[in-house]
Amino acid sequence: MEELHIQNTLSGEKERFVPIVEGHVGLYVCGPTVYSDVHLGNVRTFMSFDVIFRYLKFLGYKVRYVRNITDVGHLVGDVDEGEDKIGKKARLENLEPMEVVQRYTNGFHDVMRLFNIQNPSIEPTATAHIIEQIEMTATLINKGLAYEKNGSVYFDVLTYAEHEPYGELSGRKLEDLIHNTRELDGQEDKKNSLDFALWKRAEPEHIMKWNSPWGMGFPGWHLECSVMSRKYLGDTFDIHGGGMDLKFPHHECEIAQHKGAIGMKPVNYWLHTNMLTVNGRKMSKSEGNGFTPEELLTGDHKLLDKGYSAMAVRFFMLMGHYSSTLDFSNTALQAAEKAHQRMMTGWKDLLDIKASDSNEVDVDALRKRCQEAMNDDFNTPVLIGVLFDAVKAVNLVKAGQQTIDEYSKKGLTQLMYDYLFTVMGLREEGSAGTDASLEEGLIQMLIAMRKEARVNKDFALSDGIRDRLAELHVQLKDGPEGTSWSKG
Ligand code: AMP
Ligand code: ZN
Repeated sequence: MEELHIQNTLSGEKERFVPIVEGHVGLYVCGPTVYSDVHLGNVRTFMSFDVIFRYLKFLGYKVRYVRNITDVGHLVGDVDEGEDKIGKKARLENLEPMEVVQRYTNGFHDVMRLFNIQNPSIEPTATAHIIEQIEMTATLINKGLAYEKNGSVYFDVLTYAEHEPYGELSGRKLEDLIHNTRELDGQEDKKNSLDFALWKRAEPEHIMKWNSPWGMGFPGWHLECSVMSRKYLGDTFDIHGGGMDLKFPHHECEIAQHKGAIGMKPVNYWLHTNMLTVNGRKMSKSEGNGFTPEELLTGDHKLLDKGYSAMAVRFFMLMGHYSSTLDFSNTALQAAEKAHQRMMTGWKDLLDIKASDSNEVDVDALRKRCQEAMNDDFNTPVLIGVLFDAVKAVNLVKAGQQTIDEYSKKGLTQLMYDYLFTVMGLREEGSAGTDASLEEGLIQMLIAMRKEARVNKDFALSDGIRDRLAELHVQLKDGPEGTSWSKG
């Protein structure tokens, strides 16, 4: 595909991506609830969006990527009644809630770094947006879409559903929801069992609470994402993402709150990533099948024969499409590790192969296929297939069965660099890199930084990079296929 297409989980269709403001993308992804260590399932979701973020930037978009930290309001069991996940942890471990938040936020960042997942542009927290959450709750009450009862405020789903479709994202029917939620309902304050909390009264023993027009309390879980996405990305923004398990109720409630309060749809494209499973079951903390990154690196887990590097795992995850489930097993990891090694060997061989006067490698065709794969809803498995075709060509040249000239070798190096490192976010590991690959890597890094500086209109920096490289006798040349470099 020549233009980017995205599977929009709201329409169920693969749609051409057209941003609201040309050249810019607003992207919001639901971040972690920081009450425990992240597991590899969480990592898969954030890695999928990392590749999406990287590819959008690679296409030249200026992306504002907002990924929040949930540090209040997410109750145990994902329901509207009971203890706050963070508050509970604080009570059990005798810590301040903010100590819990800081500890697991730090841990989350460490894991993101380990897997080479880039930082978002803004990482807002729910506790820093209590005022906005109170405001949106008040607006919904004023519009007759929410009601207060005994110090808690609930969204009135049936009143909302008189004007707007509730369930449009998850495909759930109102009648089914009414029927299915009744049994679970122990919450007599609600008019209807479907209603969800915007604000909850805090019981005296509840530690995390704030003053509000309705008394001491805390916000409902869904509200934070509505106010933070709107605050930083606007009334309607381009892409909202998260794991498939958040479609209902979390994202459905976000849509209802936002449309109810603002009168506009919040998002043009909804993207949902599929689950990492173990023996077919979703990896989750409550299932007790959550692998931690440490267990994976050390191999210290009953399902693993050995440890794996973070980049082998990154490769494993990208060998699947984000919208399919991916089953985590020792065998699958071993296969991915081999494939990853083969790819990285291909990359190093490419830097070492001898160029000649004739050329039989069609770099333009390979680049086109890479772009088509990523434009087709970020299809990393197809992309990896094309990159293996590139490795095949390298091997043929190495074996003397095919030729490549200097120009195509540079082009292929640029191509592999772009897609392996810039887009897929792989990173060369250990000290195995030769001087040649280090030089190539460093220059490509500077080229990428210069490109980003130009996108940001920071011409002082972009020109500075070019001039400083020229002082080192490295010339950059901009062409339709990107920037190439030469010495001399
Ligand atoms: P949580 O901290 O539980 O809210 O989860 C953070 C993110 O990880 C959410 O977007 C979830 O959808 C996602 N997630 C949780 N479990 C998995 C899994 N097994 N595979 C992929 N993503 C997951
Ligand atoms: Zn969210």
